[in-house]
Amino acid sequence: MSDIPNVYDAEPIPQAAMAEVTRLLTTGDLFRYTAAADAPVSLLEAEFAAMMGTKYALAVSSCSAALFLSLKALGLPRDARVLIPGFTFGAVPSSVVHADCVPVLCECGDDYRIDLDDFTAKLPEVSAVIVSHMRGHTSDMDAIMALCEAAQVPVIEDAAHSLGTTWAGRKIGTIGRVGCFSFQSYKLVNAGEGGILITDDADLVARAIIMSGAYEHNWKKHPVLQDAFARWQNRLPLYNLRLSNLSAAIIRPQLAELPRRVRDGRRNHDLVAARLNASPWITVPEKLGPEERAPDSIQFNLNAMIEAETHAFEAAAAARGVKVQVFGLSTDNARAYWNWRFLGDIPDLPRTRAMLMRACDVRLPARLTEAECDVIADILLAAIADVMEPPRAYGT
Ligand SMILES: *Cc1c(COP(=O)(O)O)cnc(C)c1O
Repeated sequence: MSDIPNVYDAEPIPQAAMAEVTRLLTTGDLFRYTAAADAPVSLLEAEFAAMMGTKYALAVSSCSAALFLSLKALGLPRDARVLIPGFTFGAVPSSVVHADCVPVLCECGDDYRIDLDDFTAKLPEVSAVIVSHMRGHTSDMDAIMALCEAAQVPVIEDAAHSLGTTWAGRKIGTIGRVGCFSFQSYKLVNAGEGGILITDDADLVARAIIMSGAYEHNWKKHPVLQDAFARWQNRLPLYNLRLSNLSAAIIRPQLAELPRRVRDGRRNHDLVAARLNASPWITVPEKLGPEERAPDSIQFNLNAMIEAETHAFEAAAAARGVKVQVFGLSTDNARAYWNWRFLGDIPDLPRTRAMLMRACDVRLPARLTEAECDVIADILLAAIADVMEPPRAYGT
């Protein structure tokens, strides 16, 4: 059927990128450290830091690379324990393993956010925390920051999917010691691949810059206190996780599109959420009070449906043209913690597991129109009606 919205295609890259990409291809100037100044990657860092209101930004090859470098730049010793949510993308525990640290998994609740009881219980065991704002859902940052400050444990924000989200008016990614973002194609800014970390900590960013591959004196092209670099010269490994000028040229003109994408993504999400919440079989968890989201997908929980009914709902939605993924039911899902077998010992997280077995994921890109969002809501509600009887009222 041709009237089913296509949720997979990306938005076109703004026209302004074309001229800059052509210039880079014509000159061959693709490496961030060739030009004496004003390389596209350096300009992106300056613009991103200004947009976020932070002192420093370092663009790298992915958000996973940014998480890895953040852990390394914190100077954590080998086998340091790092608390991460049990509901996140498999690249997050992987970045911890890559940094020679040990992930400790924290329970997440029905609202996809960090369970504060489990967080409080496990915090004394760890040397650092990564808060993944999974699918853009912000955990209670007031509580998390208060607990971590009291315990003197540094917080890295995995804001891969949270560009444009705010918490009590503060930009997500600026609340912890470091914030990490992704420019992979399924995020709000699309460069195919890419990432960036932001911080106000000069010494931390100096270490991250050197380790990202600012070999010899290339760090002189970064506007950071020079004595911070002098302290670390030749003392840190060069992991070479730099971003290419081509990627920066594709990212820079998209920053101006952000307010529109955030506004439309929120509108689309809230429209579909209100329609789905009218069904007794579906609950879309409320956002937390201080949170203003920037969604490009919707997550919702199926109520009191057994596994066979959940599968039947997925199949009915697919037959009608909308792909629904239940995180815990799709084979080898990278967001189901029991599939992170590279960790060796995987603890059981009963609350997170229960959530994953009924939490649905549907793409809802910002470029969809309201009419297209209505079609998606119609299909999801029709798929529920295909498999579930209306619940009987009490007393009948
Ligand atoms: C996409 C994503 C990542 C990984 O980002 P990459 O740039 O692909 O490495 C990490 N965490 C979350 C929450 C994500 O959504």
